[in-house]
Formats: sequence, structure tokens, C-alpha cells
Amino acid sequence: MGKESLSKKELKQKKKKRTLMIKTVVLVLLLVVLGVCVFFLVRTLKKDQESQSSDKKEDIQTEVTPEVTPEAAPEEETEPAEDTAAQPGTDRTAAMEEAAYLAATYDYDGAIEKLNSLEGAAEDSEIAAKVAEYQAAKDSCVPVNMNEVTHIFYHSLVVDPDRGFAGDDSLSAGFKQWMTTVDEFNKITQAMYDNGYVLVRLRDLVIQITDEDGTVHFTPNTELKLPQGKKAFVMSLDDLSYYHSYDGRGIASKVVLDENGKPTCEYVQADGTTVTGAYDCVPLLDQFIAEHPDASYKGAKGMIALTGYNGILGYRTDIAYKTKENLTADQQAWLDAHPDFNWDTECEEAKKVAEAIKADGWEFASHTWGHIRIGDASLERIQTDTDKWKSYVEPLVGATDTIIFAHGQDLSDWHDYSGDNEKFQYLKGQGYHFYCNVDSTQYFLQIRDNYVRQGRRNLDGYRLWNDVHGEKNRTSDLFDATQILDPKRTDVPSL
Ligand SMILES: [Zn+2]
Repeated sequence: MGKESLSKKELKQKKKKRTLMIKTVVLVLLLVVLGVCVFFLVRTLKKDQESQSSDKKEDIQTEVTPEVTPEAAPEEETEPAEDTAAQPGTDRTAAMEEAAYLAATYDYDGAIEKLNSLEGAAEDSEIAAKVAEYQAAKDSCVPVNMNEVTHIFYHSLVVDPDRGFAGDDSLSAGFKQWMTTVDEFNKITQAMYDNGYVLVRLRDLVIQITDEDGTVHFTPNTELKLPQGKKAFVMSLDDLSYYHSYDGRGIASKVVLDENGKPTCEYVQADGTTVTGAYDCVPLLDQFIAEHPDASYKGAKGMIALTGYNGILGYRTDIAYKTKENLTADQQAWLDAHPDFNWDTECEEAKKVAEAIKADGWEFASHTWGHIRIGDASLERIQTDTDKWKSYVEPLVGATDTIIFAHGQDLSDWHDYSGDNEKFQYLKGQGYHFYCNVDSTQYFLQIRDNYVRQGRRNLDGYRLWNDVHGEKNRTSDLFDATQILDPKRTDVPSL
């Protein structure tokens, strides 16, 4: 019984032990499960937080990136301080780059002003050194001798001489005489740059004072200065209209704007396909000056002399294309080939292109509306012609005070314009104060109280051919014509 009661006791104890063990195991298991649960809970919470904050980052980035949306602007201010810390540095770098560009264009005052406008410029030794450098460069410049400023001019350039010079009629003879090829233009531009020539504006040569009643007075600009050895020259382009007669001659067909809103050309290739690019003087010179800022004084470009009778810049903007009255055969043919032509749209486009050309530094001048011979024409003819220019060209390109005469004619011989020259009086009254003719002498500049007149030199096939093959070389001061003449030229027939 004792044994029995003992074993019973033992049994009871064993049972108790087992229950305790089971309970412990369950408890431990529960704890483990709880621990695992807590671990996962914490992990997912952490993950959530991380993904939330990265979402936030992305949100800020996408909202800040488009600078054009005004809503994004306040977000930028809440961005970390690194932006504001970077600002002065980039400002400084940009200002120094801009100053270097200005100094390269001989605008030393502009460069110095740019640097001095920077915050803390006075304590910045690098800035001070640059200011001193530009000041020294300015001080070493010498005034341009007004008696030695030449003026060169071009017509539209021949891209494809095989087409431009084809045929043996008077039209092809004209192309061979008056036109310059793209290759010749590029070589001349480079050679003149290498020889120290710097493009200036005709108006850079003078100081103009205008009285209250509108009377203008001119004196030579003694402040026009360039580094020693540099030579100022003026440039103009005649007849940038892309006349109908140019069609199929391997010349650009119109000035258009590229994807950056800069002037470039449309050109119809020999196979009939149309391409866009630098196929004429405006974009070619723009490119050259962009690459060589010291080729131009304060960003000067040339003057573009426009007629109006076939429109301007390749746009058929003359009123005749709208009224369809007094059309020439080629105008009629062009209108027939363009049944969707809209005169108002055409004028709008031409105006946009003209504005972009002016924004690039070019100026517009009158070449008379009808390409008339100013010397031979009667005063009445000149008046009617001027009215037409002011009605159909000026609204597109803006008013101008410059007239570049066609056919190389002038109001009088080389003597000063006299007050009793009625054509001169009339043109003065119409706001023209700058007059240009064609004169193959090296320099011809008259700066008078009431007008400025300059002779221009044709850098065309006639000139280049004769400088290479003729008896007298008239361009040796500018370049070596033998290095310029296009090998595609085989002759220069007389007209
Ligand atoms: Zn002309």
C-alpha cells in the first residue's frame, strides 16, 4: 500500500512536472511567436517609413524640376540650404564668363561693370585682378582712324556653283559677276579675321546728337577704340530678297528660324529636296562671330539692304501678291504654284524672322523699293518709291535711317551733298541720314554735320576674278585673292 501510495504520490508529482513543462513550453512558444510578430511589425513599419520618405523625395524632385510652372517655385524655397549656398558661386562664375565675353568684344567697360556689380567684388582678389586686366587692355587701345575704315558688301551667296553659274545668257553672267560663293565668303571671313579686321557698325563711326526738333548732327566717334594692329571695317548685304530670278540657281530660298529661334536658311537642293542650314551670309557670319567674338566690335553685324518688289528675305510680302494687280510673269507663276498662299500669314512670318535677325545684331537699310537708279530717277519717282518702301517694307523690318543705293549710283559725285540737292533734301526729310554707294576705292567716308556717307567695295566674282587674273589687285589689303577665288569659276563674262 505504501508502495502504492508512494507511486501514487510519484505519479501526482510526475503529472505536476509534466503540466509545468507543457506550460513552460507553451509560454516559450508564445513568447517566440510574439517576438517574431513584433520583429515583423517593426520591420514593416520601418519599410513603410522609408518608402514614404523616398516618395516624398521624388515628389519634391518632380515638382521642382519644371521651372516653368509657377506652383513649383515655393517648393524650391523649402529645398535644403545647398541651393542657396551654391548660388553665389555659380553667379560669380557666370559673371566672370560674361565679363570675359564682353572683353573679347572690346567692351571693356561692360566687362568691368559686370564684375564690379558682383557682391563682395571689392574683397575678391581674383575679380580685382580681372578688372585690372580689362582696364589695362582698354587703356592700351587706340582710336580707329576714320580715314581708314573700309566697307565691304555681298549679295546672296551661291551654294552650288554648278547651278549658279550654269548657262551663258546675261542672267548667268550676272550671277558670275555679282555673286560670291559660300566657300569664298567663308575664306574671306577667316582671312580678314586673321589679318586683324574687326567688324563695326557704320553708326559706331560717329557720335549722333539729335536736337529737340529732330535735327541730327554727326561728329567722328573718337571713342571708337581697338587694340593696336586691329582694323575696323563695315559690312552690308544687298538684295536679301531671294528674288524669283534666283530660283534654281543654287542659292538659299528664304531666311527661316531654327529650333532656337535664330536665323538660318532654307535651301532647295539640286534633287529638289529642301534642307535647312547656314547657306547664306547671315547664319554663316553669326556662326563665325559666335566662335570668334573678337571678330566683331560689341557684337556688331552687318546692314541688310532690302528692296520690296519681290518681298523680303524670301517672303512674298509685297502688296502686289495680295491685290494681284500689276503682277510680273514670275510673280504670277509663283502665285499659281502656291494656291494656299496667305499674304497676312506671309507678312507675320517675315516680321518674326526680321525681328530675330535684328536681335542677332543685324540692321536693316533701304535699297529702294524698286531697285531704282537714284541718280537717273526723277524726284517724283524717288518719292513714289520711298512711299512704297515705307508702306510695305518698313512695317516688317522697322524704320531705318540708312539708304544703300542700288546699281552703284549716288545722289551726286564724291563732293559733299549740297543743301540744294533736292533728292538729298527729300531723303533727309524722310529720315535718311546714312548713305552708301559703291566705290571700289579702299576708303571713302564722309562724316558731315548733317549726314554720313560711305563708299562700299564689292567682294564678288567680278572683283575676285579680276584680282587674280586682271592687271590690278584691289583687295590685297584684305586678303590674298588667289587663296579665295572659287575653283568652280572658269570665267567672268561681261554683261
Ligand atoms: Zn542691289
